[in-house]
Amino acid sequence: MLPRHLYVHVPFCARRCAYCDFSIAVRAVVPVADYVAAVKRELQLRFPGSERWELDTLYFGGGTPSRLSGDGVQRLVDVLRERVVLAADAELTLEANPEDVSPATVRAWHTAGVNRISLGAQSFDDRVLAWMHRTHGAAHAANAVSIVREGGIDNVSLDLIFALPSSLDRSWELDLEQALTLGAAHISLYGLTIERGTPLGRWVERGQVDESPEERYEEEFLRAHEAMTTAGFEHYEVSNFARPGRRSRHNWAYWSGAAYAGIGPSAHEFDGDRRRWNVAPYEHWRRRLANGEDPVDDSEELTPENRATETVYLGLRTARGLRLSERELSAVTPWVDAGWASVEDDARLVLRAPGWLRLDALTRSLTASRSL
Ligand code: SF4
Repeated sequence: MLPRHLYVHVPFCARRCAYCDFSIAVRAVVPVADYVAAVKRELQLRFPGSERWELDTLYFGGGTPSRLSGDGVQRLVDVLRERVVLAADAELTLEANPEDVSPATVRAWHTAGVNRISLGAQSFDDRVLAWMHRTHGAAHAANAVSIVREGGIDNVSLDLIFALPSSLDRSWELDLEQALTLGAAHISLYGLTIERGTPLGRWVERGQVDESPEERYEEEFLRAHEAMTTAGFEHYEVSNFARPGRRSRHNWAYWSGAAYAGIGPSAHEFDGDRRRWNVAPYEHWRRRLANGEDPVDDSEELTPENRATETVYLGLRTARGLRLSERELSAVTPWVDAGWASVEDDARLVLRAPGWLRLDALTRSLTASRSL
């Protein structure tokens, strides 16, 4: 059975952000024709045949997919449509950086079928954006939201980063306020992590930047929960908030354990039993395909233990929660008493925001009790 969800990785970025350790390809000029031709080869090589392949969701992630510009996204969609059919109500998301958004590009994306834009805003403070080595300013992000909406795409998600070093003196409240004022349909939060080998990792090693204390992470996470749920958003996954009816259907498929296909450098795929992922460097991926080879890097079969952990983790990270046995229900009473979780009538345990701050520990605890 062909999966109903497809992820396409577009690796290009204008430059590397200070905190980013993703596998990206920094290019001043994006090789659109080469990239699209390689995607076409991967589709032909890995998904031959002509049986109908219908998608409920298609997601262009990166990297910075908006670097393909209007025409590049149209060409990419055209190539994909040679093999896939988008369901009538399919969700087609494009990750975009604010500086790539213009009335002309949005028009082209809309015409190509894009109906959801995930915008990498991160902050609305120019000083903070410059520190992050982002390529856009605060005004860009605010303008981009209006341009996207005026171009006919009203499903806009904003990414924000929190838990920045105290020395930056960033106002998280102002950023939250601004994100809410812009009227986004969805907001995703990312706690800053310090990765070795990134500019930020080196700054921390040299003592030039302080790491944000855990209390700051917790405080800002809870503050975001408060501000957004008060504004009418559902906190439907540990890091994601949506207006009613605006959850990310593509990401929800991941969190539900659904099968999905992945194309492009470093793209991951899951068929329900096995995961596979492609080689990450762009040139490596492209050369493999040019030689007629599968660009797979590695794969793994989900063991029963992996599956058990994953069931618990995926259930607890979402508002769907996890159905518990009688024995487990009594074991989690202290969590409910502490305000970390609630138990619904159908015996589902659903974490609350303070519980999501303890997601890993609670997952370990429940998984361990299940294996006894
Ligand atoms: S735009 Fe995104 S993928 Fe590209 S360098 Fe910045 S954080 Fe990484």
